[in-house]
Amino acid sequence: MRLHVLASGSRGNAAVVENARTGEGILIDCGICKRDVLARCAEAGFDPTRLRAVLVTHDHGDHVRGLGVALRGLARLGATPEVLASPAVRAAAAPLEDALATEGVAFRGLWAGDAVSAAGLVAHVFRTSHDAAESFGFRFEDAAGSGAPDAVGFMTDTGVVTPEAHEALAGVRLLALEANHDRGMLERGPYPWPVKRRIASERGHLSNEQAAAELAALAEGPGGGRLQAVAAMHVSQENNTYRLPVEALGDVLARIGHPAAVTAAYQSRLVTLG
Ligand SMILES: [Zn+2]
Ligand SMILES: [Zn+2]
Repeated sequence: MRLHVLASGSRGNAAVVENARTGEGILIDCGICKRDVLARCAEAGFDPTRLRAVLVTHDHGDHVRGLGVALRGLARLGATPEVLASPAVRAAAAPLEDALATEGVAFRGLWAGDAVSAAGLVAHVFRTSHDAAESFGFRFEDAAGSGAPDAVGFMTDTGVVTPEAHEALAGVRLLALEANHDRGMLERGPYPWPVKRRIASERGHLSNEQAAAELAALAEGPGGGRLQAVAAMHVSQENNTYRLPVEALGDVLARIGHPAAVTAAYQSRLVTLG
C-alpha cells in the first residue's frame, strides 16, 4: 500500500490509499477542488479512475466540500466510486447529498467497528472524538502475502486518542496522525477564546504533544517495529508550523531509537508515504 496525502489542513483534506499491487485506490474525504484532486493524483502517479470507494471521516466542510464536483468529474472519465459514510454524517452534510446525486454513484452506510472491502483492501472503521455528527478514523489492511498484513493507519480530527483508536493504529507500517496545533501557539494566537477552547477540547483536534505521546506509545507497543513512516496531519496554519510537529514526532522516535521517517502533510502539496 501507498498513502498519498493530496491535501491536509483546515482549508481542505483529501488522501488516497493505493493498493500498489493493482493500482486501485480508496479516497479518504474530499474537501478540495476537483482540479487539485486530479493534479495531485497525476503527480502521485495514481490514476483517479481506479478509485473504487470514497470513505468520509465526518461532515465538516473541509472534508466534504469538493466531493460533488470531483465525483461528477470522475463520472465523466468513466469512474463511479461508491461513497461510504456514517448515516448521521450523510444527514448533516449537504455537500454529501449533492455528491450522491451523481449518476451511477452508490451509497453505503458506515458504522464504527465495520470492516469494509474496497480496492482489494479492508478498511476497519473506528470512532474518533470530534464535534461532528459522527467521526471516524481508519485502519487499512492488505491481507495478500504471508505473515502479518500490511497496514496503514489514518486518524485526523480527534480531540483525544481513545483506547479503541489506539488499538486500531497499533502495528501499522504507515501512519497518518493528526498534529494540529502547538499548545502555546494556540493559547497566544489570534483565535477567539471559544474557538481556542473548542480546538483544545476532547472533541477538537490533537496537539503536537498529544500526537507525540501517541506515537511513542505506538512505536514502543506491540508491532511498533513495523512502523516505517509517519505524516503529521491537519497542521494548523495559525497555531502551528510545519517544522514543530515534525520535530515533536521525530524527537520521541529518536529518544527510543526508532528508525521511522517523519514528514509533515501539507495544505497545498502532495506527500506520499510508502
Ligand atoms: Zn478537519
Ligand atoms: Zn473536523
